[in-house]
Amino acid sequence: TGGSSRPFRVVLLGARGVGKSAIASIFAGAADSMDSDECELYGDEVCEQTITVDGEKATVTLVDNWDSEDEGGSSQDQCIQTGDAYLLVYSITDRSSFLQASELRISLRQHRPAHHTPIILVGNKCDLVRRREVSVTEGRACAAVFDCKFIETSAAMQHNVWPAFHGIVQQLRLRRDTK
Ligand code: GDP
Ligand code: MG
Repeated sequence: TGGSSRPFRVVLLGARGVGKSAIASIFAGAADSMDSDECELYGDEVCEQTITVDGEKATVTLVDNWDSEDEGGSSQDQCIQTGDAYLLVYSITDRSSFLQASELRISLRQHRPAHHTPIILVGNKCDLVRRREVSVTEGRACAAVFDCKFIETSAAMQHNVWPAFHGIVQQLRLRRDTK
C-alpha cells in the first residue's frame, strides 16, 4: 500500500546559512537512486525523490525555498501553509539561528493549530565542535517544549542527515495511519 499515494511535501525552514541547501543536496544525491537524474529538480529549490524507509518506498518532495529575509511575505506564508512536515534547521554554532527556529515553531503552530504536523528540530553543523554555541541538552529541551523530535546533523560530514529524512517519513506515516 501507499505506492500510489501523493508525495509527502517536506519543507526546510531556518535562518540563512544554517545548512538547509547542504542538507537538500544530500537528499538530491540519494544513496539508493541509480543516478542523480532520478531526482527531478524544479528550479533547484524543489527535489522529488523516492526513498526506502523501513522496507517501504516513500516519495518525498523536499522544498528548499525558505527566505528568512522575506519577513511576513507571501512566499513565507506559502511555505508554512503547504508542507506536510517540516525540518526546522538551526546551526549549533549560531545561537540566533536557534532562537529563530523557536520563533518559526511558534509561527507553525499559529498557522496550523488544528494539525498535528510532524516537525523535527535539526541542529546542523555538529562537526564544528569548537564553535558550538547551543548544547545538545538545550536543543533536546527546546524540542521537548515544542513537542517535536530532535536530531543533530552534519551535512558537511554527511552525518545523521538520512536518519532525519527517515524520521520525518516515519512520523508522516504514523499520522496517516492514525487518521
Ligand atoms: P542555507 O542558507 O541554510 O541554505 O545554508 P547553506 O546550505 O548554503 O550553508 C551555508 C554554509 O554552511 C555553506 O558554506 C556550507 O558549506 C556550510 N555548511 C552547511 N552545513 C554544514 C555542516 O554540517 N558543517 C559545516 N562545517 N559547514 C556546513
Ligand atoms: Mg540555501
